[in-house]
Amino acid sequence: MAEKLGVYICSGCDIGKALEMAPLLEAVTKGKNAGICPVVKQNPVLCSPDAVAEIEADIAANGLDGVVVCACSPRVKWDIFQFGQGVQVERVNLREQCVWSFREDDKVPGLLPLMAKDYIKMGVMKLSKSRIPAPEVPETFKTILVLGGGMTGLTAALEAAKLGKDVVLVERAATLGGKAATMYKTFPMSHPYLKAEDTGVDQLIAEVTANAKIKVLTSAELVSLEGAPGLYSATVNAGGEQKLDIGAVVLATGWVPGDKSFLAPMGYGRIKNVVTAAEFEAMTKAGSIVRPSDGKAPASVAFLTDVSLCTQGTVGGTAEVCAPVDPLPETPAEGEAEVNPYADKENAKHLAYSSELTSLVALKQAGYVREKLGEAVAFVLYDHMMVPGINERYYKSAQDDAGIMLSKATITAVTEDADGGVIVAAKDTLLGADIELKADLVVLPTAIVPVTAHEPTMNLQYRQGPGFPDLELFDGFVDSNYVCFPYETRRTGVYAAGCVRQPMTMATAKEDAAGAVLKAVQCIGSANRGVAVHPRSGDVSFPVFNFQRCTQCKRCTEECPFGALDDDEKGTPKPNPTRCRRCGTCMGACPERVISFDNYNIDQIGSMIKEVYVPDDMVAGGPRVIVLVCENDAYPALDMAAFRGKSWSPFVRFVPVRCLGSVNAIWVADAISKGVDGVIMLGCKYGPDYQCHFVKGSELCSRRKTNIAESLGRLGVEAERVEQYEVSIDEYDKVPALIERFMTEVITKFGPNPFKGY
Ligand code: SF4
Ligand code: SF4
Repeated sequence: MAEKLGVYICSGCDIGKALEMAPLLEAVTKGKNAGICPVVKQNPVLCSPDAVAEIEADIAANGLDGVVVCACSPRVKWDIFQFGQGVQVERVNLREQCVWSFREDDKVPGLLPLMAKDYIKMGVMKLSKSRIPAPEVPETFKTILVLGGGMTGLTAALEAAKLGKDVVLVERAATLGGKAATMYKTFPMSHPYLKAEDTGVDQLIAEVTANAKIKVLTSAELVSLEGAPGLYSATVNAGGEQKLDIGAVVLATGWVPGDKSFLAPMGYGRIKNVVTAAEFEAMTKAGSIVRPSDGKAPASVAFLTDVSLCTQGTVGGTAEVCAPVDPLPETPAEGEAEVNPYADKENAKHLAYSSELTSLVALKQAGYVREKLGEAVAFVLYDHMMVPGINERYYKSAQDDAGIMLSKATITAVTEDADGGVIVAAKDTLLGADIELKADLVVLPTAIVPVTAHEPTMNLQYRQGPGFPDLELFDGFVDSNYVCFPYETRRTGVYAAGCVRQPMTMATAKEDAAGAVLKAVQCIGSANRGVAVHPRSGDVSFPVFNFQRCTQCKRCTEECPFGALDDDEKGTPKPNPTRCRRCGTCMGACPERVISFDNYNIDQIGSMIKEVYVPDDMVAGGPRVIVLVCENDAYPALDMAAFRGKSWSPFVRFVPVRCLGSVNAIWVADAISKGVDGVIMLGCKYGPDYQCHFVKGSELCSRRKTNIAESLGRLGVEAERVEQYEVSIDEYDKVPALIERFMTEVITKFGPNPFKGY
């Protein structure tokens, strides 16, 4: 515990204009923690070099082991207020959360000093209950395991080797190259970005196989992955099982073609000369573009970029609504070039729209027609032509080719002509009229389905199971947070790259491979220093278990979003510190208060809440509401709102938490029994569109909230007094209204907490 604190109150940045300093200093010198605060001072500019030097001198002279900085938000000037490893720092946000956002209340005067005193006392209390964590620093393995030997996996292996890492590359097939090896060419990857290029995969294979730092295992499979980041033991079968010591994993297992039965409304399986883009690519790579019906070279080829047939309009008529057609049962096509091993699985998705990839593939393959078939012409009919960035040049070069006709079009029918040709009917075209065009061959897009949609398991030896949880949320793609943490999966130490993460071009997949490798390298380094990976990068704390009180209820092991806790046969949790992201969800889950962090624990936050002054008479003193605010998005949103001059009720007090998942019901119960009139949990969105930085934290909190509300109801306290609101970082303008809503819809409506004054 911090036992000798210096408390410094800044009067700069409007704080001194709004608040008298003397009563605030007195709140500490005459408060119950006065004995552990030998230095209590004010300063006109606490972030100035002189002030910082004064703090440093006080630390040296008084042997301070903690400094409470009562000034601006902890999100700013964090680099200035750092005083070495032995001195803990707590920031009290007087500027944004008090002065800048304060709003007078008509009926209750003098609220600002009360608020500032509350926050200062809470800060002192928090630090007095905080220890400096001693990280567990294991000796870690440094080798990176790359799963998948396609373009992404090969690039990842080379990038890791360039960084000096040993790499083991495991490829299921007998040869390297993956999907890239089946392609004739790929989209432009270099200036002037006008023509399709060789994939370069052969050269990449040569570089990988010649690199002494990369061990290539083909016809090989990962049998199981046991352990934790930096400490993995991978069992690989490559003509016999072998165990490998692994630091981190790059998952680059790629994609498989989607279920082709979804293409049936567009003629696939019914009309011989309708093929998929994957089949067209294979025949081009094999050397001859021919019609499946008669083996003859087509004189015209039509490429359709989306497979939603419009059924409610007719050629020549007026269309109303276009809707995707339900898939027909799969009909195997004659001469099918590529067999989808997963076609019977239900979760292959209908490609209901044009994408960047379907657009670029159509352009590329239209180019094949021009290159390989002499005078043949290509038609590209698209719903949306999506060619972001530099690929606009590629699109323009196709437009400039007289043999390629491009038009926006809504396809209304695909039928077979008597001579085996295919008639495509379309409306809403750039020609201004409904059209019917006849092509010798029609090519439909191939859906990209991640391998993980069908094989979600890496045979992880984790208590929560062998695969990645919640894959259905992401259509089988394993990336668990596209917005903030690309490459991240729900298993710390396993980073996804390429089309197993999201559909992408080869050029992007190569960049992706480099990104995922950097994450893997960071992860090994973090494990080796005993610190967390993102979002709490560098955090040295980890959950500590007081096992004597554990009832083996297994809530923590079940709720940890990252599978960091295994358990023994009795159900006692077995922590794996390097899997842990320090979210505190386990702490929030535990009904016995077994779990704590040295610098974040149940007693600490509970004691902070107890420091809030709650008047016995709500009419005279106003209500009090505790807001448990997630530090990831909600807290910065509040700061930004204050910065923009927004204000909110002066009766709320914010208590930052690592994640709403870490909120333990006891905090809410304690607050209510103390007479607090309401509790808001302010955190990230959950559900399919979630932005929770710990994936499940806010969702788990909302489930716990239901239980808390039921318990309150049994005690005669209105369940509505506890509410959870979702907010993202850019919704700062929404936060004051949310608080206002709670104050009017709950506090004004229900009046004082019935426990007030007891
Ligand atoms: S819930 Fe969070 S803090 Fe607890 S073990 Fe899991 S990752 Fe670590
Ligand atoms: S939630 Fe608490 S009591 Fe239950 S198993 Fe985990 S540590 Fe033990």
